[in-house]
Amino acid sequence: MARVLIAGAGIGGLTTALMLHARGIAATIVEQAAEVREVGVGINTLPHAIAELAELDLLDRLDAVGLRTRELRYLNRRGQEIWREPRGIHAGHAHPQFSIHRGRLQKVLYDAARERLGADALITGHRLAGFVQDEAGVTAHFTDARDGSGSLDLRGEVLICADGIHSAGRRAFYPDEGPPSWNGVAMWRGATDWPVWEDGETMAIAGGLAGKLVLYPIAPAKGKTQLTNWVVNVRIADPSVTPPPRESWSTRAPLSKVLPYARRFHVPGIDIEALVRASGAIYEYPMADRDPLPRWTHGRVTLLGDAAHPMYPVGSNGAAQAILDARALADHFVAAGHPREALYRYEAERLPKTAAIVRQNRIGGPERVIDEVEKLSPAGFDHIDDVLSHADREAIVKGYAKLAGFATGDAR
Ligand SMILES: Cc1cc2nc3c(=O)[nH]c(=O)nc-3n(C[C@H](O)[C@H](O)[C@H](O)COP(=O)(O)OP(=O)(O)OC[C@H]3O[C@@H](n4cnc5c(N)ncnc54)[C@H](O)[C@@H]3O)c2cc1C
Repeated sequence: MARVLIAGAGIGGLTTALMLHARGIAATIVEQAAEVREVGVGINTLPHAIAELAELDLLDRLDAVGLRTRELRYLNRRGQEIWREPRGIHAGHAHPQFSIHRGRLQKVLYDAARERLGADALITGHRLAGFVQDEAGVTAHFTDARDGSGSLDLRGEVLICADGIHSAGRRAFYPDEGPPSWNGVAMWRGATDWPVWEDGETMAIAGGLAGKLVLYPIAPAKGKTQLTNWVVNVRIADPSVTPPPRESWSTRAPLSKVLPYARRFHVPGIDIEALVRASGAIYEYPMADRDPLPRWTHGRVTLLGDAAHPMYPVGSNGAAQAILDARALADHFVAAGHPREALYRYEAERLPKTAAIVRQNRIGGPERVIDEVEKLSPAGFDHIDDVLSHADREAIVKGYAKLAGFATGDAR
């Protein structure tokens, strides 16, 4: 019997398996997808989470597929600079921030898990459908993800549901919760090879209250070009009367839908409209999250990552918090006298912290600095300090870093 069963081979589930393995604890992961493909576009992973992956000896592999972020700039819609700060090692952290294709990060973790845990420990094409607990353990029931046929029952000491925003584990405990909540914002995303912008290691977030553009390279430059990721977030509807677009990371959107919005943003030195036009595939996803839960752990079963605390993707925190969950869970599993105690201690450590980030992201996270400037000076400015003082801007941006555990003094 595996000591730990994990449903979902996303960033959270795979990191948990690797962390447990590093502590001598056997885990089996079951993933619904038939194979782990490079799905998704860019994400940022913060230094405190990269510290955990470095401890798993994965830094070289990340360097091979991702990009160490040097600087972050916040701009208004016209491209005027509101704030700039160094990131990762350049900000004094012991570890870098990585801008990386989500699928490539997942592949790094998946390959490491296969090598270290053995191919038998990763089962694909099966979906968690239910579980039964008893005094000695938990039996998890999986069905064939293609047609719901067949059945695979696995027994473990605990079951970790790391199965994303539509978690089956979460639904079992909270059957009346319904779909994720949508704030009326659509996110369109794409990535394409593009002439290197600035130093090739800089990320920009530009815009105002009605919408934002996020821009960052996600792979090392190849000569004069590099894989450049963009996201356009725009409030397109009143969520109380309009149902959200379909929540699938692979929903495609036509160029004509995003172009009118993309044209609104200006970033010095890069033609945003041309970048968007050049991106072959454009993906659409609603900005959705869920209310923080009162409990994640129910006996021998718990939730992790997006299953536990899906959050708006502001402040680069979704993957980072899933990685921090994995670390906490593995540590408590080793330290606790009983598996149930481990899961309760894990929840006690992680639930309050992640709930605070979910709530902070709802009011804009660090990007709120852009909104505050627009409120005060919608037509732009001559000198940013006349609009909002350096101390006030710093309080918004650094206050968030402290909350999310990656202020320079916090990170390892
Ligand atoms: C396909 C995909 C693409 C994404 N693209 C982006 C992106 O471009 N940018 C971004 O910022 N974030 C993206 N995300 C979200 C981001 O990866 C997560 O917010 C973050 O990494 C937290 O990871 P997680 O492991 O908790 O959840 P997820 O990354 O969502 O992983 C959950 C995993 O569980 C599997 N799963 C779901 N239900 C079951 C079940 N019942 N049984 C077994 N397995 C199940 C899923 O297939 C998935 O592999 C994407 C997520 C997915 C699944």
